[in-house]
Amino acid sequence: MDSSSIEKLRTTVRGVVLCPGEHGYDAARTIPNAMIDRRPAVIARCTGTADVIACVRFARDYDLVVAVHGGGHSVAGKSVCDGGLMIDLSAMKGIRVDPSRRTVRAETGLTLGEFDRETQAFGLATTLGVVSKTGIAGLTLGGGWGHLHAKYGLALDNVIGADVVTADGRYLTASANENADLFWGVRGGGGNFGIVTSLEYRLHELGPVFGGAVFYPAAKAEEVLRFFREFSRTIPDELVIQCGSLTLPDNMPVFAVAACYCGHPSEGEKILKPLRSFGSPVADAMAEMSYLQLQGMFDPFFPPGRQTYVKSNFIRDLNDDAVRALAEFVGKSPSPYSFAPFVEHWHGAATRVGITDTAFPHRQHTYNLMFWSNWESPSESEKNIQWTRTCWKVLRPFLVEGSYGNYLSDEGDTFARAAYGPNYDRLVVLKNKYDPTNVFHMNNNIKPTK
Ligand SMILES: Cc1cc2nc3c(=O)[nH]c(=O)nc-3n(C[C@H](O)[C@H](O)[C@H](O)COP(=O)(O)OP(=O)(O)OC[C@H]3O[C@@H](n4cnc5c(N)ncnc54)[C@H](O)[C@@H]3O)c2cc1C
Repeated sequence: MDSSSIEKLRTTVRGVVLCPGEHGYDAARTIPNAMIDRRPAVIARCTGTADVIACVRFARDYDLVVAVHGGGHSVAGKSVCDGGLMIDLSAMKGIRVDPSRRTVRAETGLTLGEFDRETQAFGLATTLGVVSKTGIAGLTLGGGWGHLHAKYGLALDNVIGADVVTADGRYLTASANENADLFWGVRGGGGNFGIVTSLEYRLHELGPVFGGAVFYPAAKAEEVLRFFREFSRTIPDELVIQCGSLTLPDNMPVFAVAACYCGHPSEGEKILKPLRSFGSPVADAMAEMSYLQLQGMFDPFFPPGRQTYVKSNFIRDLNDDAVRALAEFVGKSPSPYSFAPFVEHWHGAATRVGITDTAFPHRQHTYNLMFWSNWESPSESEKNIQWTRTCWKVLRPFLVEGSYGNYLSDEGDTFARAAYGPNYDRLVVLKNKYDPTNVFHMNNNIKPTK
């Protein structure tokens, strides 16, 4: 881009505009997954909706590729483009809790940790993910599985309104009463229809929780997985569990079960007793704790700057054959930083929503499998990616076609499309209406047909 166009952008937006070579440019284009090394022609760090509107119009005037950066945690690196304009929302951190209505209006540059901190000041919370640096925007627009999903639904099930800047630079409000088609689409359709500048969520009362993790020797994975499966069939909506292979900081490979009980902590302690007394765990880190403590529990395992590659699909049936196949890979990742394999249990409120009630279709599956591989040096990339793909190939017969889109590495259109399941055709109609020229395509893309 020539300097006069950049100057024009600088005079139109209030936030910082960064070009290659300028101080802050490299930091702004760097995201947690170090495999992604892209160089936008220009980055605009927006301060509010007016900046977002200006950026969308600028990108259209100059026919620029657009990437939208919320919290930057898309493993596929969808928040950064090569060339083009990166619209960076990370400075948009306004948030206002309304304790009497139990709602919150939050700008989309917030991270989960920042959001939780504000709502917990009022003894309130809503479902978000389990790593506090993740952005609320990408997570919510694509789903939002977390510690409260079984009691209160996914993050997107708690959205009651969204402010959206569409591809033509218009500002629309989407809710059950206004632009209801768009409201349906943004809850699961990711950033396909425009840039969401703020989200309004329903909140719920939440005090201390009972949770943490129990760690078993990796060699016991098959037994623990079977126990996990049977235990998961009996648990109430207040309890969310997941399990998987990881390596402790002292280099010991373990199979862990993590949990959060969001009802009364003493009840949680009782319900979790069988899990904690099963077999001989090598460590038990479950206790009553604040929700904020629990939400930061996984943070040390996900420092920025590692290479990350993920394969993930819902499991058709966690039968004994699947359990055996999974257990084979426990403790075998070439990297000590991987969470692979890992199984999330999906149940309760999130699975009682109809498949077509929101754009997010994955309501009928009970277990979500991921091989979340992390490693440090680019020289180890081939080995780790190959290992991840091999695991996935072996497990394939036990998996359904569709994946949770928020966990996808960049695997092309077929996978992106499968992530929308039976809602895809209706999403195409919306895409034709709100973004017919596919300005917003750095996402699990819904292709316009007009
Ligand atoms: C360490 C880690 C932990 C995770 N844990 C969980 C978890 O517990 N539960 C869970 O459900 N998911 C989890 N995820 C997946 C997470 O939901 C996705 O990576 C999500 O995309 C992150 O959102 P973001 O805003 O940080 O990402 P970004 O990379 O900024 O954005 C992701 C996508 O959303 C688009 N987008 C972002 N903001 C906006 C906006 N305001 N308007 C329109 N489009 C926008 C981007 O263009 C991009 O396509 C995790 C990911 C990581 C890396």
